[in-house]
Amino acid sequence: MPPLSQYLKCARDGRAVAEYTIAPTSAIPCAVKRLISKDFLSRFDAKGELPCTCGSVHTLLTRSVLVSSDAIGESARLLAESKGTGVRLWVLSDTNTEAAAGGSFKSAVRAARVVSRVLPGTPRVRPTEELARELAREAGAASVDLIVAVGSGVISDLGKRVSLLSGLPNWCVATAPSVDAYGSATAAIDINGYHGAVPCRVSEVIVADLDVIGRAPRVMFHAGMGDLLAKFIAHLDWNLAHVMTGEAYCPLAADTALESARAALDAARRLDEEPAEATRTLTDAGLSSSFAMQATGGSRPAASVEHTLAHFWETAHSSGRDSLDLHGILAGTASRIILPLYESFYQRLEGFTPDVSRRLAAFDAEPPWREGLAMSLHPFMAKIEEEMGQRAFSKAVLAERLATFVERRHTIIQKARDMLGELASSVRLLEKIGCPFTVNDLDIRRENVLLPLHSVRLLRRRYSSFDLAYELGIEESIMRDAENNPRLGQ
Ligand SMILES: [Zn+2]
Ligand SMILES: [Zn+2]
Repeated sequence: MPPLSQYLKCARDGRAVAEYTIAPTSAIPCAVKRLISKDFLSRFDAKGELPCTCGSVHTLLTRSVLVSSDAIGESARLLAESKGTGVRLWVLSDTNTEAAAGGSFKSAVRAARVVSRVLPGTPRVRPTEELARELAREAGAASVDLIVAVGSGVISDLGKRVSLLSGLPNWCVATAPSVDAYGSATAAIDINGYHGAVPCRVSEVIVADLDVIGRAPRVMFHAGMGDLLAKFIAHLDWNLAHVMTGEAYCPLAADTALESARAALDAARRLDEEPAEATRTLTDAGLSSSFAMQATGGSRPAASVEHTLAHFWETAHSSGRDSLDLHGILAGTASRIILPLYESFYQRLEGFTPDVSRRLAAFDAEPPWREGLAMSLHPFMAKIEEEMGQRAFSKAVLAERLATFVERRHTIIQKARDMLGELASSVRLLEKIGCPFTVNDLDIRRENVLLPLHSVRLLRRRYSSFDLAYELGIEESIMRDAENNPRLGQ
């Protein structure tokens, strides 16, 4: 593949040609409006590297992003240019995404030799590791040069995982603005029965045909907004982790993901009046957030405890509504549940001073975490062992954290106030336009909401406001708030 700079106008060295195709079509009146994903990508050099102010050198392996109303046609030209005619493709889709874009992609790449695998669309397949391995064997046996995944969510995640397992590169043809994972280096896959983010091979080329994406069902737009709603909590918790634990933090990636959430809301406001513009904005937002993840090598810029809840619901098949059982809808619902809990927690912190010696004594008296584990969590034991096994925590660490909190309390509370204020107004807006982000909409039982909330620190080793609550010795009060929260039954 040509280097990144051949595809992106590079703001840093100014020597590249612009092949990041933006959508200046008559259907989109605001075509000149900036795109966050393009701005972000333009910071990377010809090798796809960015020596960042955060101290890291970020790397992107995606080489081309086609965003236009004829991106499928352009992808066929790019394929011929970069891989030659006669390239052999293994194209993965399901019956829905085949109808949305698979067929037109295959017609557009006429010169290529295509082996198809079309999975059932209804019910949607579960993206398990076993299925990914089976597909990787199949793609390997087909002696092809490239995997092309046509779809959003499940299919694009499977394509990226199959690509890693088979050693074959992959392209992705997006069909909906429902997730922010197109450009990320992780895929949501069920491993040993647990649904979570696992490593994958990023897509070399992402094809976002706005005509295709614009025709996606409305619920896919709502899902995209739900997935982006999570960014406010992710931003808050990543900042908190940086302040409290010194965890590496990249302001550029964090702000890019946050901006993508703001853009998604902008899209939500205009969904009915300017659907083409809303499609383009939401697609750009999802891409931006996914590149922030790829650049930092994980999902930290985009996911926190709300994703732990969403992954738990996916693992436990918690939703009784198949039509709404989409990752982004679950992430949006979880964000809506987390909001009042965080609000009351941070309000409480305003006048709170930890009693250090009492807290340290309570820590000494704490039983090992295994002893207090609820029976209902036993099916998730392997996952919990894996997460807790890597957690380094001691009385000395706790003492240090308590001191840090006392010193940095105002910064922590101010950041939380800003993020939760934005999240609250975003939730109100999405409620107004009818996004189905309630546990009633999803038909999730109350115990399946409370269980992952009680165990959030066990299910994911990623510092969040729940860890701070535990360290301050007031975790129980968050849980009581959760149990009394009427939103859990709405
Ligand atoms: Zn997500
Ligand atoms: Zn950085």
